[in-house]
Amino acid sequence: MPDETTGHLTPEEFRRHGHAAIDWIADYWASLEDLPVRAQVAPGDVRRLLPAAAPEEGEPFDALLADLDRVVVPGLTHWQHPRFFAYFPANSSPAAILGDLLSSGIGAQGMIWATSPAVTEVEQVVLDWLADALGLPAAFRSDGPGGGVVQDTASTATFTALLAALHRASGGQVRRHGVGAGGWRVYGSTEAHSSLVKAAMMAGLGEDAVRTVAVDPATQAMDVAALGAAIREDVAAGLRPVMVHVASGSTSTGAMDDIGAVAEAVREHGTWVHVDAAWAGVAAVCPEHREHLAGLEAADSFVTNPHKWLLTTFDCSTFWVRDRAALTGAMSILPEYLRNAATESGEVVDYRDWHPQLGRRFRALKLWAVLRTYGLSGLRSHVRSGIALAQHVADLVAADDRFEMVTEPALSLVVFRLRAGDEQTLAAMEAVNASGEAYLSHTTVAGRAAIRLAVGSWRTTQADVDRTWRALQEAASAQG
Ligand code: PLP
Repeated sequence: MPDETTGHLTPEEFRRHGHAAIDWIADYWASLEDLPVRAQVAPGDVRRLLPAAAPEEGEPFDALLADLDRVVVPGLTHWQHPRFFAYFPANSSPAAILGDLLSSGIGAQGMIWATSPAVTEVEQVVLDWLADALGLPAAFRSDGPGGGVVQDTASTATFTALLAALHRASGGQVRRHGVGAGGWRVYGSTEAHSSLVKAAMMAGLGEDAVRTVAVDPATQAMDVAALGAAIREDVAAGLRPVMVHVASGSTSTGAMDDIGAVAEAVREHGTWVHVDAAWAGVAAVCPEHREHLAGLEAADSFVTNPHKWLLTTFDCSTFWVRDRAALTGAMSILPEYLRNAATESGEVVDYRDWHPQLGRRFRALKLWAVLRTYGLSGLRSHVRSGIALAQHVADLVAADDRFEMVTEPALSLVVFRLRAGDEQTLAAMEAVNASGEAYLSHTTVAGRAAIRLAVGSWRTTQADVDRTWRALQEAASAQG
């Protein structure tokens, strides 16, 4: 029981319940295999099981754990399930969880260097390690004018990149006077993630400021000639191309825009080149899977999410810039209560200037734990196994005449459909999802429905892929 007057768990109770919480997680993981992957509840089912108000008196901590089993687990879609293949993975791992737990236990708020120097400096070093591990250009490292930062999500990183781009393009005017009727234009392919449009909305440019560029129908990659033509047309009309978004692994099909060619097409306009490799970027831990990042030397910023495929519990999105001055120029603000000698010395990085929010937790700790526990060789094995399993799926698709691939497999993502048509494709997918056997998600490619199967969990084996495939085949057969 918590202390009756204060509610605090005693140190001994904290240890005991802490062990029980870790045991709960280990038991939950052990049970995943037998749980339906997608939540089987209707709207309101979970709410109905919860009291209308918080308890007046403290309850034993065990009551919370019991409610996880009774109330929460049935209402979960199990993202850590070995047959979770929907969207992109949001991998957790034992090392990352312990790192995250330690971060909570330390409870430091690393908004500026001075509020906990280790939070900032560990983050800088871990991001330099990861930059090197991914083969990123040296300009992104923190020992030059650039550097990396852990953001909550790729959406925030893209928004941040846009703010930096506006700062640079306006010569600092935007932070003083706002975007006004600046005629700003942002470019991305029709396959760019929706966070690009959202960034334009949040930056006050409006969604119409985003000009979508056609893709090559065969690869779904941005048509760079069309980009060049669009920019020339806009410049002739007096508009200002502020940022181009390069998809390096699009959400829908894993399409890879040509970074170098895009950068070349916008060079004369000084347009900021932001590379969004939210999912695919981490594959570059394997030297043989770096091809999609060719040309990155010409980019201004780059984001990839270890919280997707690289075993680092959500949220951990790693964002690098070539020149941090644009970023801090756009966002730095120093109220009196945050003034300190270290900031004034100019010798330290204050991460509050690298993203919209002030407060920040020690997210780098979980990434540090992952990098140290797995080692780069462990991470490479994990990525390679996902890619090999995706290739296995592609082979299964090829061996069944009723199915066809929609695009070439992209790393660990396979996109396919039933030849019979959209309705049949979506019905087969929904039958598998409803059965709980596996969880897949859909997209449209050139206006036609397709099934996406994204491998990523460290628990997924070939047997899981085969079982999912059999379920899809049965669903296809059931349609006659
Ligand atoms: N960019 C791409 C290419 C993505 O696939 C996603 C999510 O799947 C995002 C951005 C957004 O990621 P986040 O949830 O980290 O904002």
